[in-house]
Amino acid sequence: MSRNVAIVGSGPGGFYTAEALLKACPGCRIDIIDRLPTPYGLIRAGVAPDHQTTKKVARNFRATALSGPVAYLGNVEVGRDVSVADLQACYDAVVFAIGMPHDKALGIPGEDLAGVIGSAAFVGWYNAHPDFRDLNPPLDTQAVVVVGTGNVAIDCARVLVKTRAEMAESDLPEYAQAAIEAAPIRDVYMVGRRGPIEAKFTNVELREMGELEAAMPVVDAAVLPASAADYPGLSDRDRRLKERNLASLREFATAEAKGRPKRVHFLFNLAPVAILGEARVRAVRFEQTRVEGERAVGTGEFSEIPCGLVIPAIGYRSSGLDGVPFDARSGTIANADGRVGDGLYAVGWIKRGPTGVIATNRPDGVAVAGHIAKDIASGTKPGREALFALLAGRGVRVTSFPDWERIEAAETAAAAPPAPRRKFARIKDMLELLGPGS
Ligand code: NAP
Repeated sequence: MSRNVAIVGSGPGGFYTAEALLKACPGCRIDIIDRLPTPYGLIRAGVAPDHQTTKKVARNFRATALSGPVAYLGNVEVGRDVSVADLQACYDAVVFAIGMPHDKALGIPGEDLAGVIGSAAFVGWYNAHPDFRDLNPPLDTQAVVVVGTGNVAIDCARVLVKTRAEMAESDLPEYAQAAIEAAPIRDVYMVGRRGPIEAKFTNVELREMGELEAAMPVVDAAVLPASAADYPGLSDRDRRLKERNLASLREFATAEAKGRPKRVHFLFNLAPVAILGEARVRAVRFEQTRVEGERAVGTGEFSEIPCGLVIPAIGYRSSGLDGVPFDARSGTIANADGRVGDGLYAVGWIKRGPTGVIATNRPDGVAVAGHIAKDIASGTKPGREALFALLAGRGVRVTSFPDWERIEAAETAAAAPPAPRRKFARIKDMLELLGPGS
């Protein structure tokens, strides 16, 4: 009997696993399940709307979805519509590619004030993720603090200051575009708790900040080390990358406004210690740090940055899934190289933590496909027909890959060129377009 594999999550981790299974497990039937009607996870709802080239990887995922043994089952939430035990009854193997959907907490006073919005929510909002369609971030402020110096922090800062014209080729939804355009934002502060060498952003993303139409980068040259040559523990490659970042930051330090009314400030060695305000945030309090070993150590000097919006872009977390062992220390599904036990596997961020670029997920998929090929010699479970019967009994409107392609065609048709698509941001609207399933 053919082996039946369910992959939960249709982002890069899920699709790279499906691609690898097609090679490693000939004859396997592969079902990719997602809680949204639309596939592709962070490719659709995480990669910034003005980084359309990055989103083109979805073309390869589409080819995988259209391969004979693969089916897409959207609008099915594990934990709500089906349990992990249900999946185990239907499938020989279940692979979790569920990512890390929640914001990591800063763990400082004031974090719950209005006007503090984590990057997972903010990025979801500007990417038309249905969970965040009604977030309405309070943009009625002249100053925004973005905590963190990773690529997500850069994405948030850039999207806040780009003009409508600069976004013309993006799929930024109109509700977000209009809100950003109407906002009186003048200063965005990107704040790192460690130094410029420790910053996690990559150089292409950093350089973009020097090429914006209405915003100039601001850096104090005095905080930049002369070079990364003496920095301990860096490989030659990492040293070269750090030197590139320092060169870009040095250029930023001499940038002139040239009529650009907005500023993105790059600040380093400031650890947030409190978010201040009564009902809404009015400032962030920082402690100056110095880096010892790899750690930021407080110096006892404090300062405040007044602002009306704080976006902690400090990484992501998951709370796991009922019925799947969770390692609270690492915040991942407990696994050994992707093996969870009992026919369960994990790939992507939920396997190894929220780091790496899209392609970093490919090896996870290859490894797990290899494990499944070895662990499960032949199928004993009924597969997708049994799951469909279960879902039909529970009244779930499953969306297929052709359904998604109808949503996509409607989004493309509704776009004002050169925008590639005008995204649906509400599940109800997507399902209305599709009508009842068969
Ligand atoms: P990240 O690269 O890990 O950056 C997180 C930032 O938050 C770091 O600057 C970190 O500082 C800081 N941070 C963490 N905890 C903090 C705390 N308690 N207080 C203050 N600062 C804190 O994570 P990310 O930006 O969320 O990105 C996730 C992954 O997606 C990364 O691998 C990233 O490269 C990738 N990504 C790539 C792109 C792209 O290629 N264009 C775009 C978006 C995301 P420390 O270093 O001191 O911990």
